[in-house]
Amino acid sequence: MEQLLRSGLSTLGLPADGVPALLRYADLLVEKNKVMNLTAITDPADIAALHFLDSAALLKAADFRNKTVADVGTGAGFPGLPLRIVEPTIRLTLLDSLNKRIDFLKEVCADLELSDVTCVHGRAEEFAAGHRGSFDIVTSRAVANLQMLSELCLPLVKPGGYFLAMKSVDSDEEIAAAKNAVKLLGGAVEETRDYAIPGTSVRHRLVFVKKIKETPKKYPRAFAKIKKNPL
Ligand code: SAM
Repeated sequence: MEQLLRSGLSTLGLPADGVPALLRYADLLVEKNKVMNLTAITDPADIAALHFLDSAALLKAADFRNKTVADVGTGAGFPGLPLRIVEPTIRLTLLDSLNKRIDFLKEVCADLELSDVTCVHGRAEEFAAGHRGSFDIVTSRAVANLQMLSELCLPLVKPGGYFLAMKSVDSDEEIAAAKNAVKLLGGAVEETRDYAIPGTSVRHRLVFVKKIKETPKKYPRAFAKIKKNPL
């Protein structure tokens, strides 16, 4: 696993200083996964590629240095925590609606002695009430379709900042279906960029949604409304 991480980070042009912390994080993840559901991916090579390098690939796509970043629906910490480990100047908020996962992330952060990481138990649409326009970058992977996810994430982004959605390469229709929602929420899909996870044949997609103006106060709505009547 160590070699996979080192060569993968090198392929991405990223430093390897965070490798010991990533290895420890993997151990904690596999251990805790025995007693609670954190991830379906448990093989060390798959954790390295599909969790760590997939997350770290974002650092090549955008400038995260000294940025405030929120990871919405972070689960066991992806992509947020590998981003923070590889790029230590990030000031990170990890947000998830499942408290057990947040408790796990607090344990990991304490174990790795990571500063500037806040682990929040809450729903994104409720967290927005006190944190509108607060983050330079909001990330999210595998939480909801882009139409709904935009209402969870865009309100949190500062005007001029970005919501970066990690999607599959066959997400053209999903992205097209989200255009109206993105516009109503004050954003614009600026670019989609497909990338390869180093050391694998897996390709994923990053959707760059730029926040061009403030999100109207009526958004986000309660989750039941977002789901029943997506924008
Ligand atoms: N992002 C992680 C990853 O890619 O491995 C976890 C993905 S997991 C499939 C989705 C996570 O989103 C779950 O941990 C769930 O509790 C969380 N979630 C779903 N809806 C949410 C919401 N409205 N606000 C915050 N978290 C939410």
